Amino acid sequence: MSKRKIQDSPVEDTERKKISTRDRSLYLDTINRKILDFDYEKVCCISLSSTNIYGCLVCNKYFRGRSMDSECFLHSINDDHHVFVNFDTLSFHILPENYQLDEQTASSLDDIRQQINPTYKDLKDIYHDTSLKRDLAGREYRPGFIGLSNFGANDYSNVILQVLAHVPPLRDYLLLYPEKLHKTKLVGKLSLLVRKMYSPNLFKSHLSAHELMQYVSSSTNKRFSLHHESEPKDFLMWLFNSMHKELVSELQNNLISSIFQGKVELPSGKSKFWMLTLTLPSVTLFKDGAKLEIPQVALEDLLAAKKYKIAKAPQFLTLYIKRKDDTQKIAGVNGSNINPTVVKFNPLQLKVDTHVYKLIANVVYSSGQNENYSLESENQAHYKIQVLDEVRNEWLEIDDLKVKPIEKDLLFLNQTYLQFWQKIA
Ligand SMILES: [Zn+2]
Repeated sequence: MSKRKIQDSPVEDTERKKISTRDRSLYLDTINRKILDFDYEKVCCISLSSTNIYGCLVCNKYFRGRSMDSECFLHSINDDHHVFVNFDTLSFHILPENYQLDEQTASSLDDIRQQINPTYKDLKDIYHDTSLKRDLAGREYRPGFIGLSNFGANDYSNVILQVLAHVPPLRDYLLLYPEKLHKTKLVGKLSLLVRKMYSPNLFKSHLSAHELMQYVSSSTNKRFSLHHESEPKDFLMWLFNSMHKELVSELQNNLISSIFQGKVELPSGKSKFWMLTLTLPSVTLFKDGAKLEIPQVALEDLLAAKKYKIAKAPQFLTLYIKRKDDTQKIAGVNGSNINPTVVKFNPLQLKVDTHVYKLIANVVYSSGQNENYSLESENQAHYKIQVLDEVRNEWLEIDDLKVKPIEKDLLFLNQTYLQFWQKIA
């Protein structure tokens, strides 16, 4: 009792403040930026709760917190870690003492806030800055062209998320208006991922779409997840439809259809489309030791063969080249059922009716280290993406985490799967 009285005296109080200020800065020294990443779904690693989640800035684990019986509080005592960030408010808290850092102290951690929730005032740098940046380990990276982790089977979704991050009108909207998107769960999470991808201040020069994909997995009853292969084009169609629905119902915004949707003229009338499907001539290759001749076909011929009558040309045209044919086994290339026909095209110009398009992204089957397919089974394919960096006028290939430049003139040599063309005339 008497002890408490002494502590409450003004002199002791000042003394206590001094100590706590010193402790506070000591605690801030324990923050380990090099291991921090905020890409994971915000759930408590012990209780699996998803509300009121804090990140430990010492060990990068997430906990529910911060009352005395919370996982976060116990972590601070058991592991002697003391600095936590609240993911909803971006406020910083010291535990177990349980006080919030004042705004002046917290502003010294603004770089951490920018990792959690990057924001953009304008798009000047996006459209003009040609520079490479460095992460905390000194690795160079190009903002916007960031490798995404593969958890075992999600290269199919990584390539699609990369595409969406490189369609300028969609990208710009996702970068500039996160506050409008707080009601949109799917588009809001995509916005967060894309804002991280373009950050010039990344702690680590790679990211993961874990948080977005966990949401997708639960809202599709695991139809699309990190752990099961799917067709990229199926994931894309689901995304187009789901994002469109969400933006229309929450914000009365038809951005997605205005960018990607076109109309074709059919005998039965006009029909909307998100994507045009192209079929390859069938080939049969034999593994007889002889040199295999891989057929070549021009993309414009494939389009012409379909006799599509375009009633409304989309701003961004999505082409799907169907290479898997379940009815016809293509023997030869390591037992794969992927049609190896080379589709030739000019990335600078594709004529569709009276319109002219240029290529901005090319999703291809990845053939691994050697020239042959290194597919573990015939049903398991691996995808990578080639994407245009307009500001530097160069093409980059992104294969999960790996990012490297690629010659524009060599793009067609790959087993093209999906292409994204921008209307220029
Ligand atoms: Zn910790």
